[in-house]
Amino acid sequence: IITMRKVEKHYAKFHALRDIDLDVRRGEVIAIIGPSGSGKSTLIRCINRLETISSGEIVVDGTKVEDGKSLARVRAEVGMVFQQFNLFPHMSVLRNVAIAPMRVRGMPKAEAEKRARQLLERVGLSPQVDKYPEQLSGGQQQRVAIARALAMEPLVLLFDEPTSALDPEMVGEVLDVIQSLAATGVTMLVVTHEMGFARRVADRVVFMEAGQIIEQGSPDDLFDNPKTDRARAFLSAIM
Ligand code: ATP
Ligand code: MG
Repeated sequence: IITMRKVEKHYAKFHALRDIDLDVRRGEVIAIIGPSGSGKSTLIRCINRLETISSGEIVVDGTKVEDGKSLARVRAEVGMVFQQFNLFPHMSVLRNVAIAPMRVRGMPKAEAEKRARQLLERVGLSPQVDKYPEQLSGGQQQRVAIARALAMEPLVLLFDEPTSALDPEMVGEVLDVIQSLAATGVTMLVVTHEMGFARRVADRVVFMEAGQIIEQGSPDDLFDNPKTDRARAFLSAIM
């Protein structure tokens, strides 16, 4: 559903992604791990063109990711959840989730709000629908952000360290929601430092360093039997 071919990314002189080839199949859950600065965020931000690539090609569900008319189509199919939840502070939880389908798809308000309630129930937030983001815990805010991303019915969800801004006691509730989505067949790329989660939930783990994909494989292979010295060194340093 996503194909990346020979993708290169430069920030001015800095070479942030090198020769990235990656295929993501429908329904697959991929965890992206690696040291700070290895290009994990850059890689997923290139998929919905929050960053532009320097060369190579990215195709999402048959549509090449490039400027122009097709970009709106790609953006509609790719949902993103950030480390900082980026909710609209002046809107209720319900409206945060309902607003994009209304504005972008022209969905009638009643229908958008009905669907928003269903999504908020799915992430365990029915009691909070009328609250404002500042009245919620970090874990609750992040679950709103996930419901908001789901409201556009994306083909793919991208997560960039969705739990690293959270207090430790809230990490679990957000990971549980992501895990339950994985079980329903949502295609996901998750940049994470939560190795236990990656092992439990991912179909495939991609290890990056210095802008390159160094190694990828099933969680068991990558965590128990890393083939490269670099993956082994990274894993032994963090586990
Ligand atoms: P972290 O785990 O710390 O989030 P990361 O793997 O997500 O790291 P990226 O944020 O993708 O890493 O950054 C990769 C490299 O590109 C880093 O060395 C970073 O300094 C550089 N970089 C990222 N964004 C920019 C930018 N806008 N301008 C210049 N350099 C950048
Ligand atoms: Mg990052």
